[in-house]
Amino acid sequence: MNSIRFYGAVDEVTGSKIEVTSWKDSVLMDCGSFQGHRDSSYLANKKFPEENINPNFVILSHAHIDHAGMIPALVKHGYSGNIYSTPATYDLCKHMLPDAAKVMEKDLPIISKMLARSGHKQNVDVLYDEKDVSDSLKQFVAVPYGEKVKLTEEIEFELTDNCHILGSASVKLTVDQKGRKHKIWYTSDLGHDKSILSNKPVYPQDITHLIIETTYGNKSTIPGDPVQALLDNIVMTYRRKGKIIIPAFSIHRMQTIILILHKLYRENALPNIPIYVDSPLGNKVTGLYGKYKDHLNEETMDYFTRQGLDPFVFDGLTYINDIADTMLVSKSSDPCIIISASGMCEGGMVRTYLKDNIQNSLNHVLLVGYSASGTLGRRLLEGRNEQVIIDGEKYIAKCQTTYIEGFSAHAYLDYLLDYVDKVAELNKLKKIYLIHGEPDAVRNVKNLLQERGHKNIIIPKKGYEYKL
Ligand SMILES: [Zn+2]
Repeated sequence: MNSIRFYGAVDEVTGSKIEVTSWKDSVLMDCGSFQGHRDSSYLANKKFPEENINPNFVILSHAHIDHAGMIPALVKHGYSGNIYSTPATYDLCKHMLPDAAKVMEKDLPIISKMLARSGHKQNVDVLYDEKDVSDSLKQFVAVPYGEKVKLTEEIEFELTDNCHILGSASVKLTVDQKGRKHKIWYTSDLGHDKSILSNKPVYPQDITHLIIETTYGNKSTIPGDPVQALLDNIVMTYRRKGKIIIPAFSIHRMQTIILILHKLYRENALPNIPIYVDSPLGNKVTGLYGKYKDHLNEETMDYFTRQGLDPFVFDGLTYINDIADTMLVSKSSDPCIIISASGMCEGGMVRTYLKDNIQNSLNHVLLVGYSASGTLGRRLLEGRNEQVIIDGEKYIAKCQTTYIEGFSAHAYLDYLLDYVDKVAELNKLKKIYLIHGEPDAVRNVKNLLQERGHKNIIIPKKGYEYKL
């Protein structure tokens, strides 16, 4: 029987794993980690491989850890087949997966303490190590966008840019059993048409099943003008001679902010203020965005290349690669902009800058991404002049903290609904699966799609087998 099962990103936004089986083969699309609170996500990831996932092939849609993070664990548990991804995803994984292994090792004592406190007696050990990561990287096979790959007589796939992050792809998977073809389109995380960094997603043709994400199933559209909000906050802080700290995710968000600042600099809109980018992982990722410029937003790239410019390099922008320079910038009281990871301030170099600068009321933390409840980013946002603890030390957060929405690489609700309308117009859809959204968001999308006349919409249950 041809069937499909979802082992993650079901009523939640992490842990993406989708298994499609023909009568004799199994293809796993994505093998992501559950992310969130460190102890509960550790326990969720420790259950892997759930229900003995034992694929013959793995296709990876993109390098975000909630889609790629358990690949080394799969290899550790005996998977020896190919892992197909775009060349850019492969290059990103060479940095992301070793980083994930390092973070896991570093977090282990904290997780162990958290679990002991809540009464768990089981052994706490890393889910995989650097050797598992390097073994898994040897199994990658890079497949460019638009190239059809025949896995068996019955199964083939093709990757198409879904404009979410560098190298990210929607997967078209065709299972042909005795002339009965199932053509599945897995959007994975879907970009949108307002990105300065990515192109616009294309609509699939000749498909029968749609699997679509619903991360922003509750948010209609990008609120306001995020670029103007970013500029206004920079100018305001500059005028009061404060420092601006922008915590940003290493992939895509950091490069988006750099591009926006570069454009504002070219348009003479930015105050004369030094900009520092300080993130060992982020700097490597930015290098890859430079390498794959042909994957990026054509209009934006044209704007820079017409003037003979590198989009990620301009006067006044400095990439920091040395801890001595980090300390110099962090301790200085001169106004500047610092872009650093991580986005929710839970790890990374940004914590050094926060420790040195949040007790000064002139300074401003500009959050350009969502901060989950309980993270340092959220605590700063909700508690001006309140105490926060960073790496065991107490600080009073006198700085201003502002959240600017609208830089996300995910499609908003209006775009998702129009996307499904268009896909349904171009294809004879048999089923629509809604995944990768919190319960309220997924149900909202289902209701709205039903109101628009769409049928056979499924919100999958975890591990449940659906006949294609
Ligand atoms: Zn993603």
